[in-house]
Amino acid sequence: MISLPTAKAFPRGADGYESARRATVWNGLVPERFPDIIVQAHETDDVVAAIRYARAYGYQVGIRSGGHSWTASHLRDGGLLLDVSRLDQCAVEPDRMTADVGPGKVASEFATELDAQGLFFPAGHCEGICLGGYLLQGGYGWNSPVLGPACESVLGLEVVTADGELIHCDPENHPDLYWAARGSGPGFFGVVTSFKLRVHPRPAVWGTCLYMYPIEVADEVFAWGRSLIPEIDDRVELQIHTGRSFPGAGLDQPGITIASPVFADSEEEAAKALAPLGTCPVIDKAIVSLPYAPATLANWYTAVMTSYPRGHRYIADNMFTSASAEALLPGIRKIIETMPPHPSHFIFTGWRTDPARADMVYGVEDEVYMALYTIWQDPADDDRYRDWAASNMAAMSHLATGSSLADENLCRRPSRFIAESNMARLDRVRSAYDPENRFHSWLGGV
Ligand SMILES: Cc1cc2nc3c(=O)[nH]c(=O)nc-3n(C[C@H](O)[C@H](O)[C@H](O)COP(=O)(O)OP(=O)(O)OC[C@H]3O[C@@H](n4cnc5c(N)ncnc54)[C@H](O)[C@@H]3O)c2cc1C
Repeated sequence: MISLPTAKAFPRGADGYESARRATVWNGLVPERFPDIIVQAHETDDVVAAIRYARAYGYQVGIRSGGHSWTASHLRDGGLLLDVSRLDQCAVEPDRMTADVGPGKVASEFATELDAQGLFFPAGHCEGICLGGYLLQGGYGWNSPVLGPACESVLGLEVVTADGELIHCDPENHPDLYWAARGSGPGFFGVVTSFKLRVHPRPAVWGTCLYMYPIEVADEVFAWGRSLIPEIDDRVELQIHTGRSFPGAGLDQPGITIASPVFADSEEEAAKALAPLGTCPVIDKAIVSLPYAPATLANWYTAVMTSYPRGHRYIADNMFTSASAEALLPGIRKIIETMPPHPSHFIFTGWRTDPARADMVYGVEDEVYMALYTIWQDPADDDRYRDWAASNMAAMSHLATGSSLADENLCRRPSRFIAESNMARLDRVRSAYDPENRFHSWLGGV
């Protein structure tokens, strides 16, 4: 019998198993999937022991850091579920502009700690996500159009392999595994116990604009928003949010909110970078029109989290596209017409692609990113809301160039998320490092 040094283990049927299982999932919609054993690691040695244990007993392994995967990708039937959320160490070296962090470090807390030191990391837009899953899948965070997906700031990793060996990988050591870790998300085949990250200087100024439009002018707003994307300053994240939580429009009426963060060296530059967002041809119909206001990281997290309340049931889906406004509008109208109640919502954003990333395993990307979030509370409504995100994305799939693992819904709607040539290379690296498929892969495929 292999012992697990400080880890807690819950075999199926044991006291505490069900609460340990549920606690691994942030989403209120907890899938009916049951691992044979759940292991909570407290230190790296526990991870090594757990993988050797899984090997000895022939278990496949699912890994969980913050449990924010919308589909609870870590939770599978049978096998061993390894919870590494307690590996949340964090050591920042400001002189070197690096940080060593555990996969259980909460990304928003990391960003807040850096902020206090005048440093910055493109952490995700929401509170609670852990760096483990976030960095592996790519990571769309604050100022990412300038800094790239967060995985580009991963300089190296400590990984426990399928053999139960702890190894270091970076561009010189195990370069194939390092390559695979920067974007394969739930398809990665090793347990990351630590990341070495490049941290960045904190932009001097954070700001935002705020425009709110009635739904009657949706065609004009989306057509204009689409045309703006190729021209907008990289330091601005164009975010067009549509949901049924609109002041003055009644609970049933959706409305459109454009609140776009900007990161700059001065307030003057920030306001200038945001100026194009005031050029919508129907701006006279806006019920709120605020071209610029200073903001903080804390303001932003508070504002964003109003759209992602805890304890709700969630299904997300998404697509990247470069289609024209004309091609996209019929699908967008359908999304709006069929939108479930608040806090469900639709996000339409601009993204800055970079050909230099074409060889990264990190997914396919394109200039427009659209994501749908169905959010409800009552399990009796599951059937009513289950298909909204997937069916609307399926209806627009002829316009999609791919989807992102950040908001993946592969178990309900397979789609392409890694370029074919990179997928072929990933398969080769997987068979070298995990020939027996010790680790689960994506919950669905292309
Ligand atoms: C409310 C909310 C807001 C979000 N906002 C953003 C956002 O702004 N930007 C963005 O890019 N994404 C966002 N996401 C998506 C989120 O980044 C991904 O779901 C990410 O995988 C979450 O990481 P996690 O560690 O919390 O999740 P987990 O569910 O624990 O991990 C996801 C998968 O990653 C793998 N994994 C996790 N840890 C390890 C490890 N240590 N070693 C090996 N494999 C591991 C496993 O396969 C696991 O199934 C959001 C998700 C939610 C729920």
